Amino acid sequence: MSAPKSIPNSAPDSTPVSSGKKPAITVTLKNIVQEYPAPGSGTTRVVDGVNIDFSRPGINMLLGPSGCGKSTLLHMMGGVRPMGVKTPTSGTILIDGVECEGPHDDSVMVFQRYANRPDLTVFENVAFPFRLKLWKNRVPEAEWRQRVQDMLKAVGLADKQKLRPSQLSGGQNQRVALARALVLRPRILLMDEPFGALDAQTREEMQGLLIELYNAWPCLVIFVTHDVTEALILGDRVIVLSSQPAKVADDFTIDTPRPRSVAWQRSSEAVKMEESILSQLHKASPGKGSVRVTV
Ligand code: ADP
Ligand code: MG
Repeated sequence: MSAPKSIPNSAPDSTPVSSGKKPAITVTLKNIVQEYPAPGSGTTRVVDGVNIDFSRPGINMLLGPSGCGKSTLLHMMGGVRPMGVKTPTSGTILIDGVECEGPHDDSVMVFQRYANRPDLTVFENVAFPFRLKLWKNRVPEAEWRQRVQDMLKAVGLADKQKLRPSQLSGGQNQRVALARALVLRPRILLMDEPFGALDAQTREEMQGLLIELYNAWPCLVIFVTHDVTEALILGDRVIVLSSQPAKVADDFTIDTPRPRSVAWQRSSEAVKMEESILSQLHKASPGKGSVRVTV
């Protein structure tokens, strides 16, 4: 991949908060139900009693067919609430055991549409959170400037920091978004199909980059995808959702270290897991939704 050869990880501020003295952060979904107003009248149940415990640092994949309610669940965890709809309709989200109803200070989100500001340079986009009071108060200027430089190097954009988003490719724009998230050293990183709009080769590069960044700054990653291969390449854990209304259909642990080679992806272990995930999805929702397999 064309990503950086080395990732700085020894600055004092880069000590991952999910290791060392602080215990790993936990996210718990308790009996989550989500209903949205249906076109016309009444409501549609989109999420139907989901219970998940994210209790260890790691890359957790939330996999399910398009439209099953993955973004709904992820946005809830990030405290992103749609206008005019109570979310969740019922159930509780706990972060470190405390009920959480809005954005949490230790969590950041990365979207498929990378949301870079067109009027700002790459450096200014990555540094953007430090304009906000919360982060301005938490991190002194000299430190955040160093972090931004380290992160730009880590995502391979050190020589592009004066450019604007329109001068970058889709993959490079997503690198900026990833850098902006990780520069905060989040304890929780929520990712909503972040590589879904990229071509196959760039997606693979970004998956490799995410693994490198995760190794340098481990945290609790919750990564939404509808791509089975992506789930198997990245996940320590793969939680499979049924189609709408989403329920947990299965929950796998993958112990094979990353990066996972093409040979591993073709191994009987991986193929069995892939078949099991696909059959689980089809069992839960015959003929509904779409699930992508990229290899
Ligand atoms: P996924 O991310 O799995 O593709 P979403 O969580 O985005 O699915 O959406 C699940 C379902 O909920 C879809 O049918 C979508 O149209 C519906 N939905 C999502 N947000 C809203 C909203 N704010 N109001 C009404 N319906 C919504
Ligand atoms: Mg979605």
